[in-house]
Amino acid sequence: VGFSEVFVDEVRRAADVVRVISDHVGLKRVGTSWKGLCPFHQEKSPSFNVRSDPPVFHCFGCGEGGDVFKFVMLRERCSFPEAVEALARRFGVPVPESSRDAAPERLAREQVLAALEAAALHYSRRLWSPAGTAAREYLLSRGFAQSTLERIRAGAALDEWEDLSAALGKTFPNEVLLNAGLVLPGKDGRRPYDRFRNRAMFPIVGEAGKVVAFGARSLDGSEPKYLNSPETVAYQKGRTLYGLYWAKDAVRRTGHIVLMEGYLDVARAMECEIGEAVATCGTALTPSHARLVRRFAERVILNFDQDEAGQNAARKSYDALSGEGLQIHVVTLPPGHDPDSFLKAHGAEAYRERLVAAPAFVEWMIARSAARHDLRTPQGQAAYARELLPVLVRVDSAVERAAWVKRAAAHAGIDHGAFEQELKRTRAGGAQRAPAPPPPAPVPARRVKLLPAETWLLVMVLRGDEGIEEALEELDELDVAELPSAEIWAAAKALLRRGAGLDAAALVGAIEDDGLRRLLSELAIAAPPTGDATPLDCVREIKCWPLEARCAEIRRALSSAAPEQVDALLGEQLELKQRLAGLARAAPALR
Ligand SMILES: [Zn+2]
Repeated sequence: VGFSEVFVDEVRRAADVVRVISDHVGLKRVGTSWKGLCPFHQEKSPSFNVRSDPPVFHCFGCGEGGDVFKFVMLRERCSFPEAVEALARRFGVPVPESSRDAAPERLAREQVLAALEAAALHYSRRLWSPAGTAAREYLLSRGFAQSTLERIRAGAALDEWEDLSAALGKTFPNEVLLNAGLVLPGKDGRRPYDRFRNRAMFPIVGEAGKVVAFGARSLDGSEPKYLNSPETVAYQKGRTLYGLYWAKDAVRRTGHIVLMEGYLDVARAMECEIGEAVATCGTALTPSHARLVRRFAERVILNFDQDEAGQNAARKSYDALSGEGLQIHVVTLPPGHDPDSFLKAHGAEAYRERLVAAPAFVEWMIARSAARHDLRTPQGQAAYARELLPVLVRVDSAVERAAWVKRAAAHAGIDHGAFEQELKRTRAGGAQRAPAPPPPAPVPARRVKLLPAETWLLVMVLRGDEGIEEALEELDELDVAELPSAEIWAAAKALLRRGAGLDAAALVGAIEDDGLRRLLSELAIAAPPTGDATPLDCVREIKCWPLEARCAEIRRALSSAAPEQVDALLGEQLELKQRLAGLARAAPALR
C-alpha cells in the first residue's frame, strides 16, 4: 500500500526517533546525541549514535544509518509501508482509511481491540460505582491507593450473566465480543453471556498501549482464582508481558527489567515507584517473552514467589532468558514473601537494596542446590552436580563458566576435576545452549568519497543553515550530474519543489542508495565544522568542479590534438576560464 507523502511526513514528525530506538537499544545521553551498543553489529563499546535534531541514527562501527523508518525496517525486518504504519499507530497519527481495505484480518483485530477498550472502560466505571463495591473493597483492602488502581485501569465484573454483553451489545455485534473473548456462546442458541463474573479485573495492556486482554481475580473464592482472556487475534499470552507498556521509561533509566509473577505485584511495585516491573500473564516464561525483554534491557532480575512453585518457575525461566544472552539475577526475599507483601511490609528502599544485592543466577542456583541436598553424602553431592550442570553449560563465556565451576565445586567440597569432567559430558550430550540469534549482518555499502565543498554543503543542509534554499536554487542538474552526491541533490530539490521545506530527516529518508544514506546519517551525527564558508560559497565551488574537469581534459587533448582542432579547444578553454572567473570563488579553504 502506498501512503501519501503528506502522511509519511506527518508520521516522521510525530515519531520520536530517540523513543523508538530506546525500545531496542539502551541509550545514554552524550552531548547533543545519544549513544548505545549497535543493534546491527556485535560490539563491546558503544559506537551507535542517535540524534533528535536532525532525527537520525548512525553507527560508526558498521556504518549503518538512516531515519526512524529505516531503523524500524532494519530492526523489525519489515517493509517501508509497514514501518510507516507501525509508527503512525504508535504515535497516534490516524492511518488513511484506503490502506485498510486490503487487510480484513486487520479490521477484525481493530474491532476486537475497540471492544476490549470499551470493556475496560465499562469494568472501570463499575468498580467506582456502588455495583462494584465487592471488587473495590477487595482491592482497597489489599492496601492499594485509588490512584494506582486508576493507573492500572482496574475494574469490576459484576456477579451477573449479562452485564457486559448488554452494555457492549448496543455497539458491537456478538461475533466481535466472542472474538474478543469477552463473552461465551450461549447454549441451544441462547444469547452469549459474560465470561468474567464477580471478579476484580486487570486489563492487560499490550506493547502499543492498547488493552489486549484481561486478567481476572475471583472475589468469592471460586476457581480458578485467576481467570485470563483466551488467546485472540489481539492477544498471545506467550508474547505479552503485563506492565511492559508502563515500565518502558523506568527500564530505560535503570537498565534492567524486574520480572514478577502477579498483576498485583506489578501494581504494588508501580505504587512504590519501582517502575521497571513486569509480569508474565499467568503462564511460564517463553522464548518469545525473553526476546521481548531483550529488546528493552540487557539485564533481567527475577523476583518470583519464594515458595517452591515460584522458585521452580525462576529456575525454568533461565533457559529461555539465557538463550537471549541476557544477564540474569534473582532477588531473594524473606520466606513467605512475594514482591507485593515485601514492599508493603518493608517499603521501596529496602526492596531497591534487594535488587542491588540480587545475586547472579548461577550463584543463586549454587546456593539453592546446596540447600536442597545433603552435601555430606556422595549421593547428595552427585544430585547437587546434576542440578547445576545444565545451568553451567548454558554460560556462554568459557572464562566465566570455568570460574563458576570452580566455585560450585568448592562450595560442595567436590573434586574440581571430576566436576569439570561431568560438565564436558553434559556439553557433549547435546545440552549445549542454543546460540543467541546473530544480529542481522550489516549490508556492505560502498564508501562514498566527496569533494570538500559537497561535504560542507551537506552538513549545512542537515543543520538547516540560513540561505541553504537560495543556494540550492543555483545548483543545476548538470553541475552535479557527475558527482557522487547527485542523488542527494536531486532529492533535496524534489523536496523543495514539493514545498515541504528541506527537512533533514526527510532528505535522509528519500535516499535509496545505501552508501549515500549512511554518508548522510554520518554527517548528521558527526556534524564536522564547516569553517566560515556560506552555502553559496559551497554551491559555487561545486559548480566549478565540472568546469575544471573539462579544462584538464582540454589541456590533455591539446598536447596531441590535430591542428584543425586546436582553435576550437582553445576557444572552449577560454570560455570555461571566463565562467570560472565569473563564479567568484570566495572560500579558498574549499579548494
Ligand atoms: Zn553498527
